[in-house]
Amino acid sequence: MRVVIYGASGRMGKALLRLGVLDARLQIVAAVTGRVVAPGEEIFCPVYSVSQLEQLPSFDVAIDFSQPEAFNAILHFCRNRKAAFVSGTTGLSELQKQAMSEAANEIPVLWASNFSLGVAVLNDLVRRAAKALEGWDVEITEIHHVHKKDAPSGTALSLGQSVELVTGNVPEYQSIREGEVVGDHTVKFSGPGEFIELRHNALDRDIFARGALEAACRLQGKTAAKYQFSDLILGA
Ligand code: NAD
Repeated sequence: MRVVIYGASGRMGKALLRLGVLDARLQIVAAVTGRVVAPGEEIFCPVYSVSQLEQLPSFDVAIDFSQPEAFNAILHFCRNRKAAFVSGTTGLSELQKQAMSEAANEIPVLWASNFSLGVAVLNDLVRRAAKALEGWDVEITEIHHVHKKDAPSGTALSLGQSVELVTGNVPEYQSIREGEVVGDHTVKFSGPGEFIELRHNALDRDIFARGALEAACRLQGKTAAKYQFSDLILGA
């Protein structure tokens, strides 16, 4: 499967490149970064800047971990090239999410706020707890590194949506920015005289990169539609 890594110079992009080249199912054909690219520059593959998208070789899927400002260009480009689109970029606007839904009429699209297997399972547990603990207060606390731009995190909002879908109530959110924390999410259900905490702590960015690469592989041969990470990974 021919893969383009978009946002390749970032923390996630570097992890995707490092792990992607080791995956025999994949061929990384291009890395796209938001910065100026020196002539002939290579990481593990040819490097392009966002303004050079038209020069990209043929590819089957683009994996986007960039920023909302960079997102529209790659979604649009995948649509033009009829290539699958996998994205983990958070902080997207409603319009950008709508654009993804529209693109899913023409290409396979998978966006996830979190590509870790553990968070997919946490989300499932949160849904079950919210259903069983009717009337309990729910608070979601997320801790991330100080460089993170959006708050609450995309993962916290997705967990919150799961609660809201079941209970009809919007949970409380708390966002903490601390050192180099990769991602720590706790969902606390408080009832009269007792509470339950469901917590996921990401110790390493590679978990997200592995999940995104796996998701990209599983999109191979799929028809145009919007896909959910948990459906592809957990087979739910
Ligand atoms: P980063 O800031 O380290 O990297 C961002 C990348 O996007 C860089 O390559 C940069 O050059 C590029 N970029 C930024 N602005 C651009 C612009 N205007 N035009 C073109 N390119 C631009 O960020 P990161 O820590 O790698 O995270 C990237 C995104 O992925 C963030 O939205 C983050 O919240 C999200 N994230 C998602 C998951 C998940 O599992 N879904 C996990 C970790 C991070």
